[in-house]
Amino acid sequence: QPKSGILAGWRSMMLWKQIVIALVLGVLVGVVLNMTGNENTATMIKYIGTMFISAIKMLIVPLIFVSLVCGMTSVTDLARMGRIGVKSVAFYLGTTAFAISIGLGLATLIQPGAGVDLATASAMEPKAAPPFIETLIAIIPKNPIAAAADGNVLQVIFFAIVFGLAINLAGKPAEPIRNFFEALNTVILKLTEIVISFAPYGVFALMAWVAGTYGLSLLLPLGKIIFALYLGCLLHALIVYGGLVTFVARLNPVRFFQGVVEPQIVAFTSTSSSGTLPVTMSAAQKNLGVNKSVASFTLPLGATINMDGTAMYQGVSALFVAQAFGIELGMSEYVTIVLTTTLASIGTAGVPGAGLVMLSLVLTSVGLPLEGVAIIAGIDRILDMARTSLNVTGDCTCAVLVAKSEDQIDLDAYNTPHALKSPE
Ligand code: ASP
Repeated sequence: QPKSGILAGWRSMMLWKQIVIALVLGVLVGVVLNMTGNENTATMIKYIGTMFISAIKMLIVPLIFVSLVCGMTSVTDLARMGRIGVKSVAFYLGTTAFAISIGLGLATLIQPGAGVDLATASAMEPKAAPPFIETLIAIIPKNPIAAAADGNVLQVIFFAIVFGLAINLAGKPAEPIRNFFEALNTVILKLTEIVISFAPYGVFALMAWVAGTYGLSLLLPLGKIIFALYLGCLLHALIVYGGLVTFVARLNPVRFFQGVVEPQIVAFTSTSSSGTLPVTMSAAQKNLGVNKSVASFTLPLGATINMDGTAMYQGVSALFVAQAFGIELGMSEYVTIVLTTTLASIGTAGVPGAGLVMLSLVLTSVGLPLEGVAIIAGIDRILDMARTSLNVTGDCTCAVLVAKSEDQIDLDAYNTPHALKSPE
């Protein structure tokens, strides 16, 4: 009897609570596996997590395409669409600059690199980022099917926007296509709901794997940089996002942070903001009441170009490397770091570890030794978890702000905690 009681209790529990419990259990199991020398078991458990991540990734292209086409066909006001675009990009750039500043400030205060011995590190080759103008031109896909197959999110967004607009312009004869996409949208959202309901198991497996492979001993010497980044992410979320939601959007910040728990945790464990996109879209619409026409535009765009956590991480890491090598940085180096980090974070793909690759670009821009990248690589997964969570929280903040300013938010849904109820 008690067993079925636990099972019934688990089944009726809200999804986000299930995810939190899974996260804690995963860490505990991982630490035990690590301490008892069972790292291999941790690697086996990871397969469950990999299956979950793949299932989420499977949704990305159809979800963006279908929901954006539907979003566009419901737009009758082109000027509004343009406004949403300008507001989102301004928000994304502004908050990224804030994030870097917080990161640089904290790294100066905490001095994470002081006392770290980088002598044993091996050299790495720098990676060049494509020039800005090339990135811009590449948004137009030569072949939309190839864009979808490659998972090129910006190109898929572009094609979906023009396709949706064309359906609008075609008018009455295109009516069946519009209805078809509306129906398809319902199906994809249902599929998303089903995949998300497996999140607790995926989260458990991924946490058990991380804790099981890294253990606690490996983390301690680099504890300061981990601490600096986690603190920075927390401050940025509470002060910048919380402040914007409270004072600019004039909404209850507690409800906001409750509403974003699911994407935050999935981002934390999967370390991929693109991979988390389906969860982010569903949370923004269901928990925060953001209208589809805003969510389907701001969120995929944010998952691609808005990386506040990544920018902060690159700022903190650059100072970490400078401190570890005893290199003094002047004002002009700080300015260069802010600029290259902003661009590098835009160019970073929302996939695990991408920020580390782009870090070499930031280091090169101010002449810091690239050996630093190798040291950070050892703990990058742990840093990636925090920065990816912040990345998706920023996307949701933008969606809420833009939706509020355009009167495209369902305040009842936003203010109802029950919206967090686990899907049946
Ligand atoms: N993993 C991050 C993300 O997907 C990108 C990064 O590596 O910083 O948002």
